[in-house]
Amino acid sequence: MVSFDEYIRKLDERLEKYIPPKKEWGPPEHAVYGVKDLYNVPLKKAKELQFKAIKYQFKRHYEKNKFYREFCRGQDIEPENIKKYEDLDKIPLLQDKFFKDYPEGRDFAVWLSNTFTGDLPTIRIREKHPTYDDVIKAFNSAGLAISHSSGTSGRHTFIPRDKKTFDIAEYALAKAIVSMVYPLWEYDISAYLLMPNPFKTTLFAGKVCGVLYDAVKDVTSAIDREITTETIRLLMSGRGIKASFIRLAAAISGKKIIKNIVKWLEEKEKKKGKIAFVGAPYILHEVIEYLKREGKTFDFSDRGGVVTGGGWKIHENRRLPVEDFIKEVNETLGIKEEHCLDVYAMVEGNGIMTHCPEGHYLHIPITYLHPMVIDKDMNPVDYEEYGRFAFLDGTAYSYPGFIVSGDRVRMLERCPVCDRPGPVLEPEIKRAKGEEVRGCAEEVRRMLTMDVGRDQGVFVWKR
Ligand SMILES: [Zn+2]
Repeated sequence: MVSFDEYIRKLDERLEKYIPPKKEWGPPEHAVYGVKDLYNVPLKKAKELQFKAIKYQFKRHYEKNKFYREFCRGQDIEPENIKKYEDLDKIPLLQDKFFKDYPEGRDFAVWLSNTFTGDLPTIRIREKHPTYDDVIKAFNSAGLAISHSSGTSGRHTFIPRDKKTFDIAEYALAKAIVSMVYPLWEYDISAYLLMPNPFKTTLFAGKVCGVLYDAVKDVTSAIDREITTETIRLLMSGRGIKASFIRLAAAISGKKIIKNIVKWLEEKEKKKGKIAFVGAPYILHEVIEYLKREGKTFDFSDRGGVVTGGGWKIHENRRLPVEDFIKEVNETLGIKEEHCLDVYAMVEGNGIMTHCPEGHYLHIPITYLHPMVIDKDMNPVDYEEYGRFAFLDGTAYSYPGFIVSGDRVRMLERCPVCDRPGPVLEPEIKRAKGEEVRGCAEEVRRMLTMDVGRDQGVFVWKR
């Protein structure tokens, strides 16, 4: 069996284009590219890497992002206040809804540039009344990697990543999965991506899977049409607001996709090659339901893996419990339970939380991400208490990645099953309901829609 070090070295070879030359590395790069296993670094070392990366980013955002600096001043915090690991909890957090509160048209471009940290390239927007998609296209043509959430539960969340920040998201995703399925991964695998084609969408969950095309040889995408914010709006219109991402996948893919996947499975069974499914569990669940009705099973026991992400809603109110899903994957496709893992990630940050194969707890990449659980007054709570997931992301260069999410979690000091160091989240994540976190959303909103002094000359408005 290949050693873990050799296994990761082979992956790094495939992902060369995501890794900057070592002489250019700063603390964020050391925290991601410089460790072999993101989930298995001794606690002391991991905390050192994490502290350096976050301190470095906090100083950058404070100095180069006028809006965030004003926000910090309002809370009387500056980089000099962050001297030791325990001080990280003082870093001012933005609420996730802040990234959902933006104006339309040309003002949307100004909003994006005000959230952005650092120098923007020249951005050409031709339309007089640009749509969200027009604005994103203009930014991305200038070399940025703006992406958004599915927006199916209300509004899209837009996050202005630059290429460097997006490269880290993609690299971390690939490394996270490959480490956890050790030693299953090899380049010569056929993968079925249960997501939109990464090169035809700005949806984060789709776009970030672009790395799959570098990590494995043969990828088939389930949804090959262009998916923009407008596509999502059209698909969802008239269907009520509370649609899930899963419903979106269903609306896009329809029934045809199920038969395509079954045909693909039959071909791969004949060839005896390795396979992997990556993406929304809903689609694979539908495939399994179909196979059960047909009384058909497969045996991919030593040569198959399933990596899911994107939520566990099947229909409006019905959730598919993770353990049931893992069981049905095993019974129908023969794929081992330790090779069926879920990933929890979100558009707002580069943190990739991944199931460990032993216990299916969500491990946190603590070399670059500082996880917190907070109550409604924005105070951190103890391990084992419920609250909202919040994090400080030491790899976000282009926006302050210090964010409170809308997800309700429970964090444990360490995994009850495996011996990887560091805290874990309990396996299933739900959206927090009801209570709003108290904060200064209105103040933040005003700061951003005003011209906070960024040179708007970066935009070239035509006519
Ligand atoms: Zn574990």
